[in-house]
Amino acid sequence: MTAPDADVIVVGLGVHGSAAARQLAQRGLSVVGLDRFGSRPDALDHSRGSSHGRTRMIRRAYPNPVWNDLVDRAFRGWADLEAESGQTLIHRTGGMFAHRGDSTLQGPGVRVVERDEAAKLMPSLRMPDGFHGMFDPAAGVLEAERGIAAMRAGAIAAGADLRTGVEVTGWRAEGDIAIVETPRGEIRASRLVLAGGAFLGELVPALASIIEPWRILTATVRPGQSAGQAPGLGVFSIDLPEGLLFGIPDVEGNGLKVGMDIAEPWDPERPPAPVTPSEARRLLDRMAEHVPGIDTSDVDAVSCLYTMTEDKRFIVGALDGAPHVIVASACSGHGFKFGPAIGETIADLCQGVARPDLDFISTSRRGL
Ligand SMILES: Cc1cc2nc3c(=O)[nH]c(=O)nc-3n(C[C@H](O)[C@H](O)[C@H](O)COP(=O)(O)OP(=O)(O)OC[C@H]3O[C@@H](n4cnc5c(N)ncnc54)[C@H](O)[C@@H]3O)c2cc1C
Repeated sequence: MTAPDADVIVVGLGVHGSAAARQLAQRGLSVVGLDRFGSRPDALDHSRGSSHGRTRMIRRAYPNPVWNDLVDRAFRGWADLEAESGQTLIHRTGGMFAHRGDSTLQGPGVRVVERDEAAKLMPSLRMPDGFHGMFDPAAGVLEAERGIAAMRAGAIAAGADLRTGVEVTGWRAEGDIAIVETPRGEIRASRLVLAGGAFLGELVPALASIIEPWRILTATVRPGQSAGQAPGLGVFSIDLPEGLLFGIPDVEGNGLKVGMDIAEPWDPERPPAPVTPSEARRLLDRMAEHVPGIDTSDVDAVSCLYTMTEDKRFIVGALDGAPHVIVASACSGHGFKFGPAIGETIADLCQGVARPDLDFISTSRRGL
């Protein structure tokens, strides 16, 4: 039998594959990381997945305490990455999450606030009548692009071989070895990590009926507008009847960004269709309604991909019958913040460290 080319092959170098490559390489394993899109190993420079763009939201507020430990690991992981890279990756702004009726959101420091207090904490945000807020003082803005570059730099410095523009066209398990097929030939390793985002259903057909790629729209307005800036505005969401409106304030010239979780199933092989003027208008009207005073005349509206599961929980773990093949889909529009924690989890699973604490997002809960 031919010797493997690496200890681990990571397929997909979005936030989760990049985080896994860094963790694995820093633990001394030899790693080959592959991504079908992009042209630079040291930065994410394509928009066909879900991890591109300047910013993401991070928060401790989650709808069930089962998430709390993973959230904690994520915050610690970003702090480690900040120390390693010497960069600020989280801007703490506080978060206001508005609901009508009862909310299940909880987490350390998270509390209910009524409209008067919400208006004091975030004067630029207008909640609809009849809504109340859950306030999360630890929430903030993640420097997403910088974070991925820092993960990739850490991986490369520890010896990982990251290759972009290389599509994995198939994979198979042969005994204890996993083999991936690419147009440039086969690569063999003792462990295989499949972190293909919206394309995961193509790599693992058993997942295709469980994860649904969606087209999602965001709009970012001209930076430097006080109505859209922290501290008057933090990260926020408003649970509107037509879908969840979310917003990320301008903290360092990134410009206020809003988006809406509205289901539009999409074939990931087709680049998401550009935002039409009427789609942009709908989103901007919502922004103007809930962040009054913002000038929406100069806007960058883009479309991208979510990978949704029915219960919005992730799918992470070994495949049944192929324990050396690990899938990692941390998705459903809220997975980015968990990047460092998912990287750590993937590295543990590759090294045979059991993670029963993560049964709530494991492959076994779905019988895969
Ligand atoms: C508009 C938007 C806003 C969001 N906001 C937030 C937020 O505020 N907070 C938060 O925590 N999360 C947020 N998310 C979710 C978060 O960004 C995603 O959960 C996360 O980026 C998913 O990362 P990933 O690595 O799993 O997938 P991806 O980033 O899609 O990476 C998968 C990679 O796999 C590659 N690939 C696929 N198939 C193959 C193949 N056959 N061969 C080689 N490579 C392959 C792709 O090219 C891609 O680069 C948001 C997502 C979007 C789209």
